[in-house]
Amino acid sequence: MALYTTDYLIVGAGATGLAFADTLLQESDAHITLVDMHGQPGGHWNDAYPFVALHQPSAFYGVNSLELGTGRKDTVGHNTGMYELASGAEVRGYFHQVMHQKLLPSGRVRYLPMSRYEGMDDGTARVSSLLSGAGSTITVRRKLVDARHFSPGVPATTKPKFSVAEGVRLVTPTQLTQLWQDNSERPARFCILGAGKTAMDVGVWLLECGVPQEAISWVMPRDSWVVNRLTTQPGAEFFNHSIGGQVAQMTALAEATSVSDLFARLEASGQMLRIDTQHTPRMFHYATLSEGEVQLLRQIKNVIRKGRVLAIEPGALVLEQGHEAMDENTLYINCTASAVEPRDIEPIFQPGKILPQLVRAPLVTFSSAVCAYVEAHYEDDATKNALCTPVPFPRNVGGYIQSTLVSLSNQMRWSQDKPLRNWMRESRLDGFGKMTASIDPDDLEKTAMLGELRQQAMAAVGNVKRLMAGSAA
Ligand SMILES: Cc1cc2nc3c(=O)[nH]c(=O)nc-3n(C[C@H](O)[C@H](O)[C@H](O)COP(=O)(O)OP(=O)(O)OC[C@H]3O[C@@H](n4cnc5c(N)ncnc54)[C@H](O)[C@@H]3O)c2cc1C
Repeated sequence: MALYTTDYLIVGAGATGLAFADTLLQESDAHITLVDMHGQPGGHWNDAYPFVALHQPSAFYGVNSLELGTGRKDTVGHNTGMYELASGAEVRGYFHQVMHQKLLPSGRVRYLPMSRYEGMDDGTARVSSLLSGAGSTITVRRKLVDARHFSPGVPATTKPKFSVAEGVRLVTPTQLTQLWQDNSERPARFCILGAGKTAMDVGVWLLECGVPQEAISWVMPRDSWVVNRLTTQPGAEFFNHSIGGQVAQMTALAEATSVSDLFARLEASGQMLRIDTQHTPRMFHYATLSEGEVQLLRQIKNVIRKGRVLAIEPGALVLEQGHEAMDENTLYINCTASAVEPRDIEPIFQPGKILPQLVRAPLVTFSSAVCAYVEAHYEDDATKNALCTPVPFPRNVGGYIQSTLVSLSNQMRWSQDKPLRNWMRESRLDGFGKMTASIDPDDLEKTAMLGELRQQAMAAVGNVKRLMAGSAA
């Protein structure tokens, strides 16, 4: 049995664990051990479908010490004119670089891939190799960092929750791209199951591959609001969309009289989009699309709104609110894995343990890096937790308000802490931080916009509690 000693044992070498490790390494002299069941760093990105990409610009995803991408703008496709979005392959390559060019060469990081964390007693963790079965014990001098809290479910590794009759063809998005290996008859129809970002990606992919919209059905249990990607652009040339967008968002939060009024205002100001303007979305999970993708998805007219799938039978779908007759030669694409399975919020800093969670929604890696910075520079858990209140991930449209309120409250606390504020300003993971910090004080238009942002943010905090009291769960 191998015996190791480390300061911090990080369980999970996905984006959360790597962003934490990277900042902790930069900000302390600690030794870190990362343990992960996957064979490569990057977590769920190793299991993602081939046409997956980031929702957000690469410019502020990943770890703090290494740029992702080259800061170029796309010149083709639906993201044209906006900052590049790394593909899944690029994200995997990037995390490989993080591990092999940043973390391991420091000499202060040990990485145990293909290994399962089994638990910890009295400061000693048990880890077993998935390949040899050999066990290791790891004495943890400082803390366990459980970087699994935000781990998303993805189609390739999640079993469907509905029954599938013999002979029905159900595939994952990955298997959809492998149809060339399948000698069965070409499907007459394609049916997308699920309404989240994966389902949206599959819709765009099918249409771009030339599948006629008439051949596509889409089971959409709930419609979703989506963030307009134009409002997430980090470059100064997008100032009016990004910071102007934040002003519009805060103004909407400050003035809305109800949740539905809030989303109507956000849509009117171009912050939020929806695929079908005839249906009121009940879901908001920070899925982010370009207006071009939304236009494309609007081509799909055969949308089945009868709740979730309970079973697929030959020639029929059984749904929560009734049956739907289907062509027997339909290929079903399962996009029902929930990337954001509801999880209870816990304090981030606990005795002997850190549970990185969102401290600014929806930025997973920024949040994890902030937690690591706070761990490295502040003394006691009470102080650390006061700086890092976990942001609940929205489960519905009402949840957006609470997520925004907690994100704003954290931001206000950070702005009063000079070292933290300065670190954030320099952090590549803080999407708009550098843009706002670099504004010329003589640029009256932009400084006025920043002033308005602060003013509207204060007003938003005042109104949000009233909105929360009135929002349905
Ligand atoms: C398709 C998709 C696109 C996304 N795009 C964005 C985006 O653009 N921007 C953004 O901010 N977020 C995005 N997200 C959100 C996403 O949650 C994060 O970006 C991030 O990749 C999640 O990483 P994680 O480390 O929290 O989880 P994971 O990637 O799931 O990593 C957790 C790791 O823990 C390991 N593990 C679990 N249990 C054990 C155990 N017992 N022992 C050892 N190891 C264990 C697993 O093997 C896994 O590697 C996206 C999510 C999806 C699904």
